[in-house]
Amino acid sequence: LTLAQFILDADHVRRPVRKNGAWIVDDQSGRKIGLEEVSVVNENKQLFGGKCAKVHLRTRTYGLANALSIRYNIQEDDVVLIYSPNHTDYLVAAWAAHRLGAAVSGANPLFTVDELVYQINEVKAAVVITHPDSLNVALSSAHAAGVSTDRIILFDVEDADTAHKLTVQALVSQGLASVPNFTERKLAPGEGKTKVAFLKFSSGTTGRPKAVAIPHYSPIANIIQLATHHKVGEEYADQRFKPGDICCGVLPLYHIYGLVFNVHYIFFCGMTLVLTAKYNFLDFLKSITRHRITHLMLVPPQIVLLCKHPAVKNYDFSHVRYINSGAAPLSREVMEQLAQIFPNAALGQSYGLTESGPVISSWALDKKCDLSGGTGQLLPGIIGRVEKPDGTLADFDEPGELVVKTQALALGYANNLEATKETFVNGWLRTGDEVMMNRKGEIVVLDRLKEMLKVRGFQVAPAELEGCILDHPDVTDTCVVGIQDEYSGELPLAFVVLRPEAVKRVEESLAAAEEIKASIMKHVAENKVGYKKLAGGVEIIDVVPKNPSGKLLRRVLRDKAREMRMKPKAKL
Ligand code: AMP
Repeated sequence: LTLAQFILDADHVRRPVRKNGAWIVDDQSGRKIGLEEVSVVNENKQLFGGKCAKVHLRTRTYGLANALSIRYNIQEDDVVLIYSPNHTDYLVAAWAAHRLGAAVSGANPLFTVDELVYQINEVKAAVVITHPDSLNVALSSAHAAGVSTDRIILFDVEDADTAHKLTVQALVSQGLASVPNFTERKLAPGEGKTKVAFLKFSSGTTGRPKAVAIPHYSPIANIIQLATHHKVGEEYADQRFKPGDICCGVLPLYHIYGLVFNVHYIFFCGMTLVLTAKYNFLDFLKSITRHRITHLMLVPPQIVLLCKHPAVKNYDFSHVRYINSGAAPLSREVMEQLAQIFPNAALGQSYGLTESGPVISSWALDKKCDLSGGTGQLLPGIIGRVEKPDGTLADFDEPGELVVKTQALALGYANNLEATKETFVNGWLRTGDEVMMNRKGEIVVLDRLKEMLKVRGFQVAPAELEGCILDHPDVTDTCVVGIQDEYSGELPLAFVVLRPEAVKRVEESLAAAEEIKASIMKHVAENKVGYKKLAGGVEIIDVVPKNPSGKLLRRVLRDKAREMRMKPKAKL
């Protein structure tokens, strides 16, 4: 099965849905779109900008697929790039691509032209589906990447004021009114393991972000691993996921945690999903009560705010039954505070990577809460080993790199054999994370051995920032490391070596050093999305330490940064 068939057509998904209805609900307007063939209209008899009596995910997916085929000839292995915040049609767009045999790549809607052009070129996007708020960057990027502007399609947003009229709704209507132009892509037995469904970006162990090729089999396997772990569908007293439950959807769908765990898994469980386009903490608090949300899928900074923000005490959250934290580390102390605010909720952490489809571990069912700071047990069917730096196996409770074998494994990095070979080794995934595992298979993540930083749960690749900083006229060499931050987890800090002329300016005037640092920070802020800015600061050094073969000794500078005990001001 393709992922679209698994969710939209397969009987095991549709059975619980028939009973209770699974919906995608727009957080702001409350409009719903469902898996079943039912009529859902608002009081003006309008939905998504058009008049529709029957609106359901399968029909919209079919209509869009047909139009993408007629208008753009989207077909086998083409790539549909979605550059948008969450939207109720996001999944429709992804599944329409799957129906045609195409793959989907999601991009952060706040990416700059520089970042989006990189992604369009890396995946060779055939069309870009975007949102009115991101349209200008999408148009400039498409122009720079040689994609014609009639290949930019807009998600429908009420009251959007734009001259670009090519919308998903228009295409759905066109596709539904036209004779079928495509044959649904079906997979031969076993083909799901190689047929690419998604190209998600991750920097992996080292270097710039790379497209991780994720086959259809991977999210399906991960959903089944999660469902087995949670005993979904079985009758037991404290079921964690069941039809009728309502989950928030504030995590971005371009990230795999949002896409697979938060959305596809929730659908598989016959639950309802409240999708939020623009996350804002105070609105989020209101949304939890307005929609009587029972399940929260979150990242650590959101949890820190739930523990610290004074507005939280104005709300009654007794209906919340489940809270998961993932994508970055969360301390025992914060977990304990969270448990006090949500006394009725099961809460704990899950851990995973884009490359592992994503979830590797989650806290066990027999514990209502896991406040230990650990990330739970390996999911059923996943095998893990912990390797010491010399390649030997670590003992239980001894640190080492986690290496896993999972059915949800990605195929590798598209068009990058070298990076693939380093990370995907004989069917095992080198996670690049230092962990300890106990006898029950419970994992505690201790540190990251790979270069990647995590800022508010988002990946930041030091190599990408270093490339940007090297474009600054005063810089001759640089190394970016992460420094700890209570709210963001980590913040990027750049060590820079200045060009001789800049060194001279610094020697002549004390103020020059501060001016140069500020100008480097501004340069990064102008060229990269907000979470990549050098909020950890800039430090001038004489030389970037390297080993005899020229490899950056990043750890030396990371330790130096820690020693300097720089305390950046966390922005709440
Ligand atoms: P991504 O591919 O963006 O999901 O990033 C994967 C990386 O995020 C992992 O290799 C870990 O370093 C980190 N990560 C994910 N979940 C957790 C967690 N629960 N605790 C600590 N680190 C995590």
